[in-house]
Amino acid sequence: MTSLIDTRPPAAAPALPSLVGATRDELRVRLVGMGVPEAKAKMRAEQLWRWIYHYGVTEFAQMTNVAKELRAELEQHFTLMRPEIAERQVSVDGTRKYLIRLAPGVEAEAVYIPDVGRSGALCVSSQVGCTLNCTFCHTGTQKLVRNLTSAEIASQVMIVRDDLAEWPTSNEDRLLTNIVFMGMGEPLYNLDNVAAAIDVISDGDGLSISRRRTTVSTAGVAPKIAELGAMTGAMLAISLHATNDDLRNELVPINRKYPLAELFDAIRSYPQLSNAKRVTFEYVMLKGVNDSLAEARALVKLLAGVPAKINLIPFNPWPGTAYECSDWSTIEAFAEILNRAGYASPIRTPRGRDILAACGQLRSESVKERASARIARESAAAE
Ligand code: SAH
Repeated sequence: MTSLIDTRPPAAAPALPSLVGATRDELRVRLVGMGVPEAKAKMRAEQLWRWIYHYGVTEFAQMTNVAKELRAELEQHFTLMRPEIAERQVSVDGTRKYLIRLAPGVEAEAVYIPDVGRSGALCVSSQVGCTLNCTFCHTGTQKLVRNLTSAEIASQVMIVRDDLAEWPTSNEDRLLTNIVFMGMGEPLYNLDNVAAAIDVISDGDGLSISRRRTTVSTAGVAPKIAELGAMTGAMLAISLHATNDDLRNELVPINRKYPLAELFDAIRSYPQLSNAKRVTFEYVMLKGVNDSLAEARALVKLLAGVPAKINLIPFNPWPGTAYECSDWSTIEAFAEILNRAGYASPIRTPRGRDILAACGQLRSESVKERASARIARESAAAE
């Protein structure tokens, strides 16, 4: 039997903080804190920004247009380290799943999917665990551990650019061109950090993935949808999955708080919706649950007047689920009704299923540490 007692030595003295993932303003504040005069800090922050996010350097020594003394000073205070990749898996279809250790016991997953979007999309997490408990979602079986910081969200992009060797970011044939907030967590429950991360990711002097190629998916936090539009200018996706309140209450329990009528009012007010900027509706195909042709027709009715496209997602099974994926012919018949009504409704080929990287399969082993356990650990480390 394996021992459950943690025999690892206590953590070493806290490491220097990393600048990776910082916003422009955070960089400036850090520089001022280090003694750089206010008047110079902004310009210095611009220089650092370009090295960190355009060139992806990992050493201050590589910042050749920064004075030697300042580089030495920076090294004393900060690092350019990325969060550690605890595990990296590559699917037979090229999908790459990363388990990223953000802090001891705090792990989130990010998934790179080739041939999606312009060239390839990164699915990022906004929280570790989730509070929503959607019944068909694996992540929903993991309790919320915590919100990710904006730096931790942006760092997921840094790690994958490293892994794809995509520095500098101006490279024309980039493999990573799109971002989807469809990993673990509910982005609209962590909107400030998601918005700050999008500021970092979309900046044209850095990672340079535009807001129009960034999609934020929500299970339906209606009151935050307008704010999302105003703060980020990102594309909106809604995890719909049902066309009436009764069924949606069951599948996506947040619907009890914000029912369909309220959700659709919020969606209709999303800024700048047009045929060129459509809302994506995700609809998971669950055998015998939400896949009847009557429901396809109800979906068409529900979407009337909303510039929309519909992603039909074959249900991805996970250990312990009672749901099954609809038959292929049912999915095709469902799609046909939507197509005939004029909606683009691609059936999303499941990607990375073999490594549990597909929609709704993400889950890490992280659990929220109880306050009592944390105090015990910290006092043990202090001894
Ligand atoms: N909380 C946000 C972000 C997660 S996005 C949201 O709900 O939109 C993840 C997407 O995968 C959502 O559309 C979710 O409903 C869908 N999904 C969850 N579990 C799934 C599964 N087992 N198979 C297919 N899609 C799933």
